[in-house]
Amino acid sequence: MSSAAAKTIYDYLVIGGGSGGLASARRAASYGFKALQDAPEYGYDLHSQGGPPKFNWEMIKEKRDAYIRRLNGIYSNNLDKDSVVHLQGHASLLRPGVVKVGDQEVQAKNILLAVGGKPTFPDLPGADLGISSDGFFELEHQPRRVAVVGAGYIAIELAGIFNVLGSETTLMTRHSHILRSFDPMLQESVLTEMTRSGIRHLPHAHAQSLVKTASGALEMTYSVDGSADLIKEEFDCVLWAIGRHANVKDLGLEALGVEQGPNGIIKVDEWQATSVPGIFALGDVCGHAELTPVAIAAGRKLSDRLFGGPSFSTSKLDYSNIPTVVFSHPTIGTVGLTEPQAREKYGDDQIKVYSSKFVNIYFAMTQHKGPTIYKVIVAGTEEKVVGIHLFGLASDEVLQGFGVAIKMGATKADLDSCVAIHPTAAEELVTLR
Ligand code: NAP
Repeated sequence: MSSAAAKTIYDYLVIGGGSGGLASARRAASYGFKALQDAPEYGYDLHSQGGPPKFNWEMIKEKRDAYIRRLNGIYSNNLDKDSVVHLQGHASLLRPGVVKVGDQEVQAKNILLAVGGKPTFPDLPGADLGISSDGFFELEHQPRRVAVVGAGYIAIELAGIFNVLGSETTLMTRHSHILRSFDPMLQESVLTEMTRSGIRHLPHAHAQSLVKTASGALEMTYSVDGSADLIKEEFDCVLWAIGRHANVKDLGLEALGVEQGPNGIIKVDEWQATSVPGIFALGDVCGHAELTPVAIAAGRKLSDRLFGGPSFSTSKLDYSNIPTVVFSHPTIGTVGLTEPQAREKYGDDQIKVYSSKFVNIYFAMTQHKGPTIYKVIVAGTEEKVVGIHLFGLASDEVLQGFGVAIKMGATKADLDSCVAIHPTAAEELVTLR
């Protein structure tokens, strides 16, 4: 088709128009096309002159706020539709079966404490000049220089967002690692990719204080590697992501003797029952598997058991093998035991690890070849799958189905028995050798 005068250089040449060729070509084309089509609605000005597309923080914040307002309305309507009475006001337990809500006293046979958690701020001078993840969503303008302090889900996700949107981003962790409870492969892969993508990682960094300068910047004083030499550095935004604590202030737990654990968490048994009969608790306030879908599932199961009749008398949430994702760049998907946990539980000689590292087809057209790394941990002679750890594009989507498999007790042979869907990244999980 091209002449010497007008040479076309294609990004991708597929030879053959059968299912494989067509599927690959269409898949490849869809990435560029869809991204470009949606970009303006996600705040990118593709027609800005010179340089990379400009990102409009103010526009996307307004759209996000509107979306949340819409969700609030939907949730509120759903309560009305289901005839749930909505009382507004601070609630505290007064006596067994009696709760104060605002100015009124309300009686109930069963009480559920689902008050969640709150971001923890460090105990250091000027800490409240920084923000938490709540403050992130309130930022009216994009900060140019950001320090994110922490090593968990929120720190990794928000540092990644700031970075891809163009803020100069520093991740400060008190140890050398991130995502402490995750499989070592995930810890290392995410950190490598974060630093490759331009995030500056400061390990062994300990913030000492924050002050506001005359220009409005935040000056952080911190030490690195336990050195007595203190470093002063200016940022436009400091975000604390050092964990969350139970939101139990003034809830009246002590008066009723509701047993609590570290950081104020409410202790519950497998039925979500607290130490006080008729009072239940679930979600982040219990400090275990702090994930929205966990709270939703536990809440539904509890109501089934309490009000659903005899057929639900054993209804409770199984907290084992909960799949979880971290929206890093690219994403993490993980379920089951990490490799160290699996070795500890079953013994080294009982554990086998299958893994695959490859380049997702998305990168067929790009210079940067982002990594995808999959790891499946199996135990015993039957090779029961006890852990699946994914890092790569769409790991969040890939994981859900494999989460079902692991809940069903899948073995490696079960994974292998499923025919691969080609060309996808997920197919690697059923062809591991
Ligand atoms: P997190 O996952 O508990 O991580 C906080 C991390 O900060 C700790 O692991 C700790 O790591 C580090 N840290 C603690 N104290 C510190 C200090 N004084 N200075 C520096 N670092 C400190 O907490 P999070 O990231 O705030 O998230 C809260 C919860 O929200 C999580 O449990 C998570 O389940 C949930 N969440 C889930 C998602 C998701 O599902 N995608 C997204 C966001 C949040 P080291 O001890 O290793 O230093």
